[in-house]
Amino acid sequence: NKRTKIKDLLSGEQVGQEVIVMGWVRSFRNNQFVAINDGSTNNNIQIVIELGLIDEVTAKRITTGASLKVSGTLIESLGKGQKVEIKATSLEILGDSDAEKYPLQPKKHSLEFLREKAHLRFRTNTFGAVFRVRHALAFAIHQFFNERGFVYLHTPILTASDAEGAGEMFQVTTLPLNNLPKKENNEIDFSQDFFGKATNLTVSGQLEGELGAMAFSDIYTFGPTFRAENSNTTRHLAEFWMIEPEMAFYDLEDNRILAEEFIKYLIGYAMKHNREDLEFLDTRLKEEEKSLPQEKRSELGLIEKLEFVLNNNFEHISYSEAIDILLASPAYKKKKFKYEIKWGIDLQSEHERYLVEKHFKKPVIVTDYPKDIKAFYMRQNDDGKTVAAMDILAPGIGEIVGGSQREERLDKLEKRMKEMDIPADEMSWYLDTRRFGSVPHAGFGLGFERMVLFVTGMTNIRDVIPFARTPKNCEF
Ligand code: ATP
Ligand code: MG
Ligand code: MG
Ligand code: MG
Repeated sequence: NKRTKIKDLLSGEQVGQEVIVMGWVRSFRNNQFVAINDGSTNNNIQIVIELGLIDEVTAKRITTGASLKVSGTLIESLGKGQKVEIKATSLEILGDSDAEKYPLQPKKHSLEFLREKAHLRFRTNTFGAVFRVRHALAFAIHQFFNERGFVYLHTPILTASDAEGAGEMFQVTTLPLNNLPKKENNEIDFSQDFFGKATNLTVSGQLEGELGAMAFSDIYTFGPTFRAENSNTTRHLAEFWMIEPEMAFYDLEDNRILAEEFIKYLIGYAMKHNREDLEFLDTRLKEEEKSLPQEKRSELGLIEKLEFVLNNNFEHISYSEAIDILLASPAYKKKKFKYEIKWGIDLQSEHERYLVEKHFKKPVIVTDYPKDIKAFYMRQNDDGKTVAAMDILAPGIGEIVGGSQREERLDKLEKRMKEMDIPADEMSWYLDTRRFGSVPHAGFGLGFERMVLFVTGMTNIRDVIPFARTPKNCEF
């Protein structure tokens, strides 16, 4: 297979050489020019077919979506629009595509329509760009942590713990569903289940990650995460990917600094390595927004927004300050918020977006949330009311990171678990880290798809994951 990828052909270095290219037909004009794409870039390569090279039957089979193998000479293009093209010396059809039935017609399709054609939407320019950027970000994540000496620790997908205590778990069982063994009190008897106890798909790798940090100092996990929550929003999926670093000897401030550095690193990486795709997405967004009234359009283009984020510090406020800002806001006075605002509430997306988009106009890190709305493992502050938590809020999205310094003091942790009805005996493996050489430590979780949303400027989380799982939707 001496095939050259289209991206490399377009760089023009091989002009004058014999090349082989394979890909899918995007268009065929004047019985002479075929544009093909192989997914390495949104740009197609033009194939020039001279009279007599192929018979009429073959010509008819060159339809949108058909796959081809072409050999020929890479030459400088005579026409406008592309630098190079291939003068074909042979053309072979690898797979036919019925032009009448091909689901992607050469018109603009809505994202909703394409979601139902998930198997073919990869062949569109929008999704081509989105998924190449997604790939690049995944790669950059490993590079960032590897450069800093973090160990990539694989935390389990099958687990018996509910780290978040939110009860949003997918249960896993091998018990016969039509004949569940019951205990005397009529509860399901999981002792007969595969693991001998109730298990579920992981909602977070954090607790296991903490065990890693207590030995390797710095670890991260990066894997699929499952939450059976009502994900009928543009920001929630039932299956999403999360990056969770966990660091020993870190306090909340160290954690905050690392998270900001990490997000900027990812943006910088994409800006450097995926410029063409980001420019495409930038233009796409501007086109989309043309139909919106002026006040609803973004002030900055996608690239301008990313540059701005790279070049400015994130704002840092406490939860209490956030509440004060919201209560003093014109939006609050005009009763624009749907959810009530008072100290103690969990910030809703509308509140987060107000802080980021209207008030500060930059990413915001909110720290020190009320303990009652956060998980048991967060470190308790001396005020007795708040914990050393942090959320990072991004424009257009709201929360993209949730993190905290962890409670490393055994007595305080046990007391909190008791208050929250978390059985300490089942968590003994976790509490051991506090029994034997406990140290201050901290970590955070970045929702990978929310990061991809942010970098690509897409607005629905279903459009940045190859196969979206949402309520009532697990087709393919
Ligand atoms: P939210 O408030 O948006 O529901 P969360 O506070 O429940 O998020 P965390 O438990 O803090 O989420 O998880 C860490 C990160 O994982 C979040 O900041 C977010 O980026 C991402 N995340 C959480 N739930 C989902 C989901 N259902 N789909 C996609 N990403 C998610
Ligand atoms: Mg949630
Ligand atoms: Mg939240
Ligand atoms: Mg959170």
